[in-house]
Amino acid sequence: MSLKAYLGNPSKTSEVLNKFGISAQKRYGQNFLIDANILEKIVASAGITKEDTVLEIGPGIGTLTQYLAEAAKQVICVEIDKNMIPVLEYTLADFDNVTVINQDILKADVVQILKENGAASAKVVANLPYYITTPIIMELLEKDLPIESITVMIQKEVAERMQTGPGSKDYGALSLAVAFYSNAEVKMTVSPNCFIPRPNVDSAVIRLDKLKEPAVKVNNKSEMFRIIKGAFEQRRKTLTNALSHSSAYKTDKKNIENALLEMGKNVNIRGEELTLEEFARLSDILTQ
Ligand code: SAM
Repeated sequence: MSLKAYLGNPSKTSEVLNKFGISAQKRYGQNFLIDANILEKIVASAGITKEDTVLEIGPGIGTLTQYLAEAAKQVICVEIDKNMIPVLEYTLADFDNVTVINQDILKADVVQILKENGAASAKVVANLPYYITTPIIMELLEKDLPIESITVMIQKEVAERMQTGPGSKDYGALSLAVAFYSNAEVKMTVSPNCFIPRPNVDSAVIRLDKLKEPAVKVNNKSEMFRIIKGAFEQRRKTLTNALSHSSAYKTDKKNIENALLEMGKNVNIRGEELTLEEFARLSDILTQ
């Protein structure tokens, strides 16, 4: 039996956990994939080839890693849980193209890690820990990292928030950041039955292809994202009220009203009605 068959099913996953006397740690968001079909589809959705370096966040016991290692030139995994390191040595013993790093991805120097492994760029693939999905994705998008694409399993609800536009209840700071930096496509939805332990939510695999240039031009993108954050802090308020009471962005009510009038907008508009282009324009006017 190949290693691939070894981990992509429930009985073998339990066997490995028992062998090492470990169980899934809730505090690290551990839900292990046990469905070979889904594992293959994730690798296909990410479009991994033998030319690619893959950066995998949270390899866990190495299930997805095995599939990635077969498809890619090399896989670099960053895992926070030190108890997984001996497990990974065991499950990945047959692969000579995998590097395991025991670190918190939010503290890791991705540029340095890629450099040390001779990679000019990487594709990120992961079954992400759901408790820190948004910070991880924001970090990967916002920092100017040599990452081509991000293909990740996340909560279905978060995937919907990433892909939506103005007017939807799911539209917010995350949707705007994703639209600014990438092209997003939900590849599939995944049932809780495909994991041990079963999560309480449905999941989805989303692929974000990083744009060479951000989707819109803006003079000061940090300022724009502070405005966006402020606009959605209290999303039911008008933009003028939300921004003039925001902790993320400080300005006079009059400045916002004038900027909206200059844009030909109603001063009672809500932030959730503005497009990315309009937030960029608002930011440019306010920072003039
Ligand atoms: N890749 C495995 C799979 O698909 O079966 C495990 C996925 S599990 C949902 C998430 C993994 O991310 C766990 O192994 C967990 O320990 C790891 N993790 C959680 N927080 C992390 C962090 N800040 N940095 C790196 N890894 C983390």
